[in-house]
Amino acid sequence: MNRVSGKSEMNIHHDNSGSADTEMSRLERNIYIIADEVLDILKQLSRENKKQLNARLIAEKMFTKDTVKQMLARPAREECRGGKDFSPLRTIADGVLDKLSELLPSFMNEKFRDLKDRFDDESLLEDSTVWLNASIRIVRKYIDSISNKNKELELFIHQTIQYLSETEKRLTGELSAHQEKFNADRAFEKDISAHMSMIEQDFSSGTDINDIRKAVLDKIENINRSIEKKREQDLLRLKETEKTLQEMGRRISDIKKEADELKKKAEEIENESFHDRLTGLKNRKAYDEEIVRALAAAQRHNVPCSLMICDIDHFKKINDTYGHKVGDLTLRKLAALLKERLRTNDFIARYGGEEFAVILSHTSLQDAVKVGENVRSFINNSLFSYKNRKIPVTISIGISSFRSDDDATTIFERADEALYLAKESGRNSVKTEEDVMGGIAPAMG
Ligand code: GH3
Ligand code: MG
Ligand code: MG
Repeated sequence: MNRVSGKSEMNIHHDNSGSADTEMSRLERNIYIIADEVLDILKQLSRENKKQLNARLIAEKMFTKDTVKQMLARPAREECRGGKDFSPLRTIADGVLDKLSELLPSFMNEKFRDLKDRFDDESLLEDSTVWLNASIRIVRKYIDSISNKNKELELFIHQTIQYLSETEKRLTGELSAHQEKFNADRAFEKDISAHMSMIEQDFSSGTDINDIRKAVLDKIENINRSIEKKREQDLLRLKETEKTLQEMGRRISDIKKEADELKKKAEEIENESFHDRLTGLKNRKAYDEEIVRALAAAQRHNVPCSLMICDIDHFKKINDTYGHKVGDLTLRKLAALLKERLRTNDFIARYGGEEFAVILSHTSLQDAVKVGENVRSFINNSLFSYKNRKIPVTISIGISSFRSDDDATTIFERADEALYLAKESGRNSVKTEEDVMGGIAPAMG
């Protein structure tokens, strides 16, 4: 920028009333031109954020200016003005300082006043660069303070953005948690983003840190108010949701209780439907299912499986002699003894009346005979009594073993035939299908 007379922003008075005055005006004009040039250089250096700002640098730049070159060709004459020593250097310094004080913020004014006062000291003026160095120090201080303020501003912006992003995260979390709040949240988001864009504007348009800070803090306060309002609304909604959830929870717990009871009842019914009430053993229905499953398993794995039918001998007589009640008790006691004597994985069922069916998985006919003998002798040796009256209880057992062409009926029929043979043979005995066949049984498989 080349500021010559008339182009300066300062008021320059042209007075042609006398030669001293003319000289004065010329001097004044030169001072303002120099001040302008110095200011221009300082501004340029400030923009470039030159760290090595010093008088020499400014002087070098000054020498390149045409206006200064012209001035140096016609040096100003020292004159006395208003009874005071008039120093063109002092006037130049004052002009520069005035210009700087216009440029710099108000908080630097005091420093400039100090500087001006120091120029009253004549000795300071001896060195022409002193005033310039002092000015530069002030400008440097200002530049440093700006960079410090920038750091402060940066931190402030960073914290604000962090705070806003945390707020946004919190809001996003809440948004995802409550889908039904969608509409209300949209409005809220809009509100927040409007505030945020206003903050953005403040950051970009503001020049003074204090103004920016105040504007941003105002917006944040608004955001906080919006958040608080939203939080209250959400809390209300949450309470309602909690209430609904509690009610739902109660209802679910009631339903669960009901379901558990129903399940228990269903299990009981199921259990009952597969169990004999009198003896507690599995019933005929359970037997019918189990025999099919056991035969299929034996066939699939090619393993032996035997069926044993136990029938109380002359049970009718027991009923007749001791009564039906004693007959029932006898049935119960026999069931308990069977359970006691047999293995837990042997399937025992009350087939009907005084007849019991036992499925012996993984048991060959020969082994089943041993089991049958064991059971028969065990019952034979057990004491059945009622009111000190001994009840004679024996059982007859018929045994058959799984064949590959067997079904539930055929295997039962052969065991039943064996039982009939046992009865025919005098009761309290164990007979097998082999016995029925006269000792000739077809091989398994
Ligand atoms: P056998 O030695 O030939 O088997 O003679 P049995 O008397 O045991 O056989 P029968 O079939 O002639 O009689 C069976 C009796 O069992 C008839 C019936 O009243 C009795 N009975 C069947 N179920 C029950 C029951 O649940 N309780 C009681 N007390 N008796 C029953
Ligand atoms: Mg009988
Ligand atoms: Mg019978």
